[in-house]
Amino acid sequence: MLMATPSTDLRNVAAFAIHSEIHSARPDVGCAAHSHSVYGRAFCATGRTLDMLTQDSCVFYNDHVLYDNFQGVVLASDEGKHIAKALGHRKAALLGNHGLLTAGRTIEEVVAYFVLLDKCCEVQLAADASSAGSGKPLVHIGEKEAQVTWEALGHSSNGYFMGLPLFQTVEAELGPRTFLGRGVEPI
Ligand SMILES: [Zn+2]
Repeated sequence: MLMATPSTDLRNVAAFAIHSEIHSARPDVGCAAHSHSVYGRAFCATGRTLDMLTQDSCVFYNDHVLYDNFQGVVLASDEGKHIAKALGHRKAALLGNHGLLTAGRTIEEVVAYFVLLDKCCEVQLAADASSAGSGKPLVHIGEKEAQVTWEALGHSSNGYFMGLPLFQTVEAELGPRTFLGRGVEPI
């Protein structure tokens, strides 16, 4: 989000406007992730929240929100405040016409949630297309089953363990050349 070298002082203003307001509003949040992933962007153009279609989507049961107030690139802290307010206590937000955002206590869980949320968007887009093509309705998970599944998979500690292998894989692949834990410096 912020990079400073002796010759440059580059600040991602939009990132700072979003992240700083989330951290201000949510003292429990140690990390927030936001990006314009392909399937996230596609699903965020639908103006909908996730349907409970798979076990994985239940990780976001009553735990994500649609922020449908796109007003251009987020350059003002007021817009960041609005996003943080819409996010509330939840772990994820679908930013309409924009992209995905996840938040949590640890980097591991937040990255795991982000990857999972993008996959859930991909799955729902595929399932919706299949349903439209076949004319057959999708099978939705019931509220009770969705809640039970969230209880089993949706807590912060679950997200941490989901995220660990992602980081371990990157570390194994990149070895000592990885940026992880080393900050911004030339490879
Ligand atoms: Zn963005």
